[in-house]
Amino acid sequence: MNKNYDVIVVGAGPSAVFLAYEIVAMNSKKKVLLIEQGKSVDKRVCPIEKAGKCVHCKPMCNITCGFSGAGAFSDGKLSLYNKSDDDLHVGGILHEYIGVDNTKKLIDYTDQIYLKFGADKHLEGTEYKDEVEKISKKAKKENLTLIDIPIRHLGTEKSHELYYKIQKYLLENGIDIMFETVVKDLIVENNEIKGVKVQSSQDYVDLKEEYEEIYSDKVVLAVGRKGANWLVDMCNAHDIKTESGVVDVGIRYELPDKIMEKINKYMYEGKLVGRVGTFRDKVRTFCQNPSGFVSTEVYDNNITLVNGHSYKEKKSTNTNLAILVSHNFSSPFNKPIDYGRNIAKNLNEIGAGKIVVQRFGDIRRGKRTWKEELDNNSVVPTLKDAEPGDLTFAMPYRTMKDIIDFIESVDKVIEGFAAPDNLLYGPEIKFYSNKVKITNDFETSVKGLYSIGDGGGMTRGLMMASCSGVQMARILEKNK
Ligand SMILES: Cc1cc2nc3c(=O)[nH]c(=O)nc-3n(C[C@H](O)[C@H](O)[C@H](O)COP(=O)(O)OP(=O)(O)OC[C@H]3O[C@@H](n4cnc5c(N)ncnc54)[C@H](O)[C@@H]3O)c2cc1C
Repeated sequence: MNKNYDVIVVGAGPSAVFLAYEIVAMNSKKKVLLIEQGKSVDKRVCPIEKAGKCVHCKPMCNITCGFSGAGAFSDGKLSLYNKSDDDLHVGGILHEYIGVDNTKKLIDYTDQIYLKFGADKHLEGTEYKDEVEKISKKAKKENLTLIDIPIRHLGTEKSHELYYKIQKYLLENGIDIMFETVVKDLIVENNEIKGVKVQSSQDYVDLKEEYEEIYSDKVVLAVGRKGANWLVDMCNAHDIKTESGVVDVGIRYELPDKIMEKINKYMYEGKLVGRVGTFRDKVRTFCQNPSGFVSTEVYDNNITLVNGHSYKEKKSTNTNLAILVSHNFSSPFNKPIDYGRNIAKNLNEIGAGKIVVQRFGDIRRGKRTWKEELDNNSVVPTLKDAEPGDLTFAMPYRTMKDIIDFIESVDKVIEGFAAPDNLLYGPEIKFYSNKVKITNDFETSVKGLYSIGDGGGMTRGLMMASCSGVQMARILEKNK
């Protein structure tokens, strides 16, 4: 095994994958290694469809780990931008480092790569401007903003195919990838990166001590939300500077396609944001999946979270979307990851390790949802493994109230959004590490150590994570 590389990338999610792609595209002479704790994309299978429940894959969850990271089983909605907008609205804060215009150019470039590898040419949300405007006006009256940007939808099964082609392309073009290998630790001397300590994913979960060292003076952290926890440990261990972070806590909402008909048709994904109700916290919808399926994902320490996706071909009759509340902390408590993890742990306990599902009408009536009630509910859950119960036992009052107020406000824009049979699944939590402090060249406070993608808090979504990888490759090539 080669022990020395020009660049080591921790993780092989979209940010890392597009970094590697751009290295190849630039004909760079740099020898690049991606280290990924999960499997190659062709070996990634989630057993939930066959087993009927999450079997907590060992050593790593196949939904969140492996080549293309959380992107492989994602719905594959690539959020683009409006040419006339000064803001990018979604996907994180990449533009704060490189500017809005540069970010738009990067999105165009990265979108072309997705198209080259087989993404659907059709763009959602571009045909029905007048109808969208009408909904937007209604939303404004309720203090809600409707974010209207074009979306390219890959679909879960197509995302898999597309990333497989990219994986093949990278391996054929000189990128080295170590699969099922965990970066256990970083090697930092005198505040400069020297390399990484690795061990097999199996040894890592078995808490074995043995590890190997691989050396490089350029290491890029591209660990995604899955690695947020690990990243916090690394920041503490190696004095990597961070800023106060955020955690998004919420639920996955499932309701009939019929109610969401117009939004689904006109926009595919209607992103609504607002500060409504008692607390005026920022609440937003995220990751809407028309005719989609609610799914689960497993994070560190066996925390089970809910998510959602949709296929290009296989369809349900329900739409699902996340409703998330952003919580910031400062002093004396500043541990957003711990906060989110505690909520998730409690809710997982309430559901005996499963995702808890409750009808909106039951929440309003102050009662749990019982199995017989769910069996006869007009909205049939697409996540069969969810446990009917009571989310309010474990969800903080503030978050729950924010969500209820938000649903009731959206109901005035989309009739039926607050219907009693609609389903709430929890917990859906987006962990971001405490935001890693980086320069405009994405370098952390440790020399030669960089951070990109969702993990360090820079991006939140496929397109921006991918763009951050392309930009990182260009920075590395420029700073020879
Ligand atoms: C079910 C689901 C649906 C989604 N749908 C959409 C969507 O439709 N549109 C959208 O824009 N976004 C969507 N997302 C989010 C999107 O997938 C992420 O924003 C994106 O994948 C982030 O890319 P990343 O490279 O930053 O991190 P990730 O994709 O999370 O990849 C990080 C990788 O690093 C690896 N890793 C972490 N720590 C280590 C370590 N110590 N050693 C070795 N490897 C490590 C992980 O195994 C993982 O493979 C979805 C996510 C999920 C889970």
